[in-house]
Amino acid sequence: MAMSSIRRLGDLWLGTEPTLRLRLRQTSLAMALMCLSIPLLHYAVDLANDGGRPLLWAWTAVSLGGMALVYAAIRSGWSLRLADPSLTVVQIAFAIAAAATGYAQAGPLRGAVFPVLTLILMFGMFQLRARGAYVLSLFALTLFGMVMAYMAGRRPAAYPPAVEIGHFLMLACMLPAIATLTARLSRIRRRLSDQREELARALAQLQAIATRDELTGLPNRRQMQALMDQELLRSQRHSHDFCVAILDLDHFKRVNDEHGHAAGDEVLRAFARTGQAALRATDVLARWGGEEFLVLLPDTSMPPALAGMERLRQHIAALRTDVGDGASVMVTVSIGLTGHRRGDPLAETLERADRLLYQAKSEGRDRICIG
Ligand code: GH3
Ligand code: MG
Ligand code: MG
Repeated sequence: MAMSSIRRLGDLWLGTEPTLRLRLRQTSLAMALMCLSIPLLHYAVDLANDGGRPLLWAWTAVSLGGMALVYAAIRSGWSLRLADPSLTVVQIAFAIAAAATGYAQAGPLRGAVFPVLTLILMFGMFQLRARGAYVLSLFALTLFGMVMAYMAGRRPAAYPPAVEIGHFLMLACMLPAIATLTARLSRIRRRLSDQREELARALAQLQAIATRDELTGLPNRRQMQALMDQELLRSQRHSHDFCVAILDLDHFKRVNDEHGHAAGDEVLRAFARTGQAALRATDVLARWGGEEFLVLLPDTSMPPALAGMERLRQHIAALRTDVGDGASVMVTVSIGLTGHRRGDPLAETLERADRLLYQAKSEGRDRICIG
């Protein structure tokens, strides 16, 4: 109960879209850091006790307001129209400005701003490119330099020039170092994402190789076996029928003998295209081996299965394949079609289809035998 309402609150704050959630998580962390820095600065100004109160409250309002605006821009989806929808550079630049103006008010405790500035720049390590990291650290150095010079000139008692020069020199060492680390991380991230893409491409390629027949592009024997196993389980669960047909091209050896192997390959490709087109979208035509094919007709009883296979047989009989040199080839196909009987193993159904195929061959080819 408590868990689910926490989750609902989380969904309300972060939304449900994963990328959006990731962006808002990061922004929420930045907001938390900002919220913790506010009492710290109030404490520092209290300690300094120099009457900087109105400025402090203005600073608090602008800091909170700025973060709220950033949150709203991301949460509403408005930031999606920008090149950087997570507003990383904007958020970091804003936080640097808040830190620099905080530094001007913090008095003796202003040294506490430096670790906060480091934290702010660490947010960039997750997203910034090298260039963004260098630009932001230069921005921070310039802004802090100006604030330090201004304060040293205006209130040298609280901000002694010698101390401010020391602080500035420290920043001048620290900021480029952070930017360099961020740039290095960015390069590592880029390399990792390149590698991930390459792996995904290789995986897709392997998957295609493992499941497709190279010549025809049809599912291969292994893939068809898996599809039939799935269909067997589905048919058991939902008590529906399915049919299987084995197809073998007639006198295919003659095509090879008369026109050459390449012509035979072309005929096999044409057979695959035409056969697939003659079937319903849910029926699967696969290359079972050589010039033998298999059709799986999921969730189909015998009458529509026979109608489908008859349509395929006729389309193939009408098919004329150009094999170059002005020659064209016509082939016919013999088909053994059978319905799976519930409780039977698949192998038995396939054996029956095979027997029916040879019956079709012996009865004169170019026909379908069912059983
Ligand atoms: P039947 O009507 O009895 O099936 O006669 P058939 O000539 O088709 O039967 P057979 O099994 O004797 O011949 C099949 C031929 O198919 C032999 C083989 O060279 C050819 N073949 C098998 N795979 C391929 C292939 O990938 N490309 C080509 N071009 N020919 C193939
Ligand atoms: Mg054969
Ligand atoms: Mg044959």
